[in-house]
Amino acid sequence: MTGHPLRLHLEDDIPRPAPGELLLRVLACGVCRTDLHVTEGDLPPHRPGVTPGHEVVGEVAALGEGAAAAGFATGDRAGAAWLRWTDGTCKYCRSGAENLCPRSLYTGWDADGGYAEYMTVPAAYAHHLPPGYSDPELAPLLCAGIIGYHALQRAELPPGGRLGLYGFGGSAHLAAQVAMARGATVHVLTRGEQAKQLARELGAASVGDAADMPPEPLDAAILFAPVGDLVLPAMAALDRGGTLAIAGIALTDIPPLNYEKHLFQERQLRSVTSNTRADAREFLGLAAEHRLAVTVHPYPLDAADQALRDLKAGAFDGAAVLIP
Ligand SMILES: [Zn+2]
Ligand SMILES: [Zn+2]
Repeated sequence: MTGHPLRLHLEDDIPRPAPGELLLRVLACGVCRTDLHVTEGDLPPHRPGVTPGHEVVGEVAALGEGAAAAGFATGDRAGAAWLRWTDGTCKYCRSGAENLCPRSLYTGWDADGGYAEYMTVPAAYAHHLPPGYSDPELAPLLCAGIIGYHALQRAELPPGGRLGLYGFGGSAHLAAQVAMARGATVHVLTRGEQAKQLARELGAASVGDAADMPPEPLDAAILFAPVGDLVLPAMAALDRGGTLAIAGIALTDIPPLNYEKHLFQERQLRSVTSNTRADAREFLGLAAEHRLAVTVHPYPLDAADQALRDLKAGAFDGAAVLIP
């Protein structure tokens, strides 16, 4: 990052919740790589000067008209995630794939997010949060956790199956724990000694370099690293009928595949786009049943710029979390 992409707004006014919205007093907000894409313009700007932040843990401070229908009351802890609104009427919404809604809106991109003391969220898109976690620990669950879970669904890992994870950051280390809780054997392929160490601590069956072959064929794999070159070794590592899901919002170009080596025998290559509210509810329910280990690095809210720089520089493992 060359400049300081964030400007500090000193707001006199606390936003007012519109009908159907909650006003959240922000308790913690995770710093996600997508925030870098928004602030640096890799994602086309949807609203100039938008406040980023879409892993928001807040306390319900007020409810707009009709918002109580979603089951929240003043003083409740509530989460706001990336998916902020969908039209509910298109063919994707009607078929349970609201993550593909062409009219969908996103927290911290289309509307102000959680790098703030207060924000609003449509109550129907806010999340009830599992007990047993601190506010900072909950924040990364709301994007890294949910997206990792959706990627796991897309990879169609069979019960007790063999899963390969390519890259081992915030999202992967949560997906790994979910998969292991469901009886999977997890092989982690990543660069970086700290990430490898974390994978071993969490119980990975094997840990190798990013382009290594795992010690056994994989039923499913997820590519978390935004590196198209890794699609080839990941596809080659799949067993017959296996599936590779690509979890990133961006990926460098994929080199040409060799049909015999990378695709034949009904291996599948899939992308992952955002998540549905159902994914979020399932994942947060799992997090309530299985205590997930979450590594967080707190920063004060006014150090958001530094947190983004540190994320870009890979200065920490786990997730940076802003505390107002
Ligand atoms: Zn729709
Ligand atoms: Zn995110």
